[in-house]
Amino acid sequence: MAGGPSSIGGELFTPKNIGLGLATVAIGFVAGWVWPQPTRLTFLYVGQGDCAVFQHDGTTILIDSGPWNPKSDAGERVIVPKLRQMGVSGIDLILLSHPDMDHIGGTGSVLKAYPNAIIAASACFRDNKQLLKQLTKWGRRPSDIKWLGPELKGTVGTFNLRIDCPQTDPDEETNDGSMLVRIDDGAASAVFSGDAPSKVEEAFGGAEDWHAEIMKAGHHGSRSATSEDWIQAVHPEYAVLSCGLNNEYHHPHPTVVNRLKSDGVKICRTDLEGDIRFEIAGRRFERVKP
Ligand SMILES: [Zn+2]
Repeated sequence: MAGGPSSIGGELFTPKNIGLGLATVAIGFVAGWVWPQPTRLTFLYVGQGDCAVFQHDGTTILIDSGPWNPKSDAGERVIVPKLRQMGVSGIDLILLSHPDMDHIGGTGSVLKAYPNAIIAASACFRDNKQLLKQLTKWGRRPSDIKWLGPELKGTVGTFNLRIDCPQTDPDEETNDGSMLVRIDDGAASAVFSGDAPSKVEEAFGGAEDWHAEIMKAGHHGSRSATSEDWIQAVHPEYAVLSCGLNNEYHHPHPTVVNRLKSDGVKICRTDLEGDIRFEIAGRRFERVKP
């Protein structure tokens, strides 16, 4: 709860100008004294999938919720216990990059633990059968979801939040509709691109400012993403590759790892290192031990 004494005592916080209906949602804090927490970005090791947790100014945003299969639910197994360890008492927003199970699978368990979380997804996936089926499983209706248009701009504390949702045909590959997210406060910054392939990176790369200290490498380090042009557009200090140890897809692809290395980008791999955490030190994100 950054913001110190003024935000203590059950005060309500409404994201300023978060747009597209989110502004109407008041976000509640737990009453009582809470020490100010650092601004943190944590990539949880959820196996073969993605889940990033952004904590800033008393707000917690999840970007994706890890994988689910009948034998393993990353939400129950990893995300909820880790969030509790991290002292997260409420989730304000869950951004679902696209409806593949390695990105949305843990949502049900997360919602059980944090029922007030708002879920947002690209409006392109409003009719996606898999997402609709999962919503029912989670006890949510399509009208409970914030369906995002092509571009959303907002703020979370001192951070700008920009979300671009590629406009894809529902019959196309779901990866092509992966939302692109950039957070920045003028110094600390990060970019997420779900499983967006290079053609999406190319379509958006020149159109906006994507420069960021931290890049979540697209599609778990698959060679379908993280093109040289995209690396140049983001120009990151760190790239986070989120994938399962010895995964069946052989992510990350050596071409991508070598491309990042030769561009001088520091590589962080969840499969080899577990959770990857950054905190603001000075003004910029620095890697810290989780
Ligand atoms: Zn994926």
